[in-house]
Amino acid sequence: MKQRVVLLGPPASGKGTQAALLGATFAIPHTSTGEMLRRERAAGTALGLDADSYTRQGLLFPDSLALKVVEQWIDGRHRFLLDGFPRTVSQAQAFDRMLQERHLPLDVVYLLDLSDTEVRRRMLGRLTCESCGAVYNTQFHKITGDSPCPKCGGHLARRADDTEEALDHRLEQYHTLTAPVATHYSDLGLLKTIDVTPGRDEVFQTLYADMKEAA
Ligand SMILES: [Zn+2]
Repeated sequence: MKQRVVLLGPPASGKGTQAALLGATFAIPHTSTGEMLRRERAAGTALGLDADSYTRQGLLFPDSLALKVVEQWIDGRHRFLLDGFPRTVSQAQAFDRMLQERHLPLDVVYLLDLSDTEVRRRMLGRLTCESCGAVYNTQFHKITGDSPCPKCGGHLARRADDTEEALDHRLEQYHTLTAPVATHYSDLGLLKTIDVTPGRDEVFQTLYADMKEAA
């Protein structure tokens, strides 16, 4: 069984969902840098305050900060599932060194692959209930922009940050910064590319079958 796993992929590829499903199925701790930093912020640590200043300015966290929280979280763990980290090649190189020092090599890096067209369709089809916060997708759920929330009857709307412009920016960032991380792990023989167009359940079955196998 594979125990040290990284999930990479563009926005809306379902990394977070798959990390949570696999983590629960195989009893492997899972997290993302965003989650780690939210916990630090909630606890009011120096790292958390540092992270806050970047978020407030709408900036990406610097490598050093991302690495610090990951190192803190990894300490004492032998198994982990990381969602969306490392985000840049320099983070990946530093992370490789961190794992080498701990004699904890990665078992596999999954690239959840999705075309830009499909990322756009998924992101722009996302609707959030203004009353209960439930999230739907016009692509997967039988709803349109005019439907009431199936759970509470509330009004469904696109989130303010799900705009075409914001999405273009996130996609560009992904292609320039994160796509090279996949190449980095491919060069190390660790990368497996999974086409996530078929949807959550099929993708989970593919990942599940592969994780069960020895590293
Ligand atoms: Zn609702």
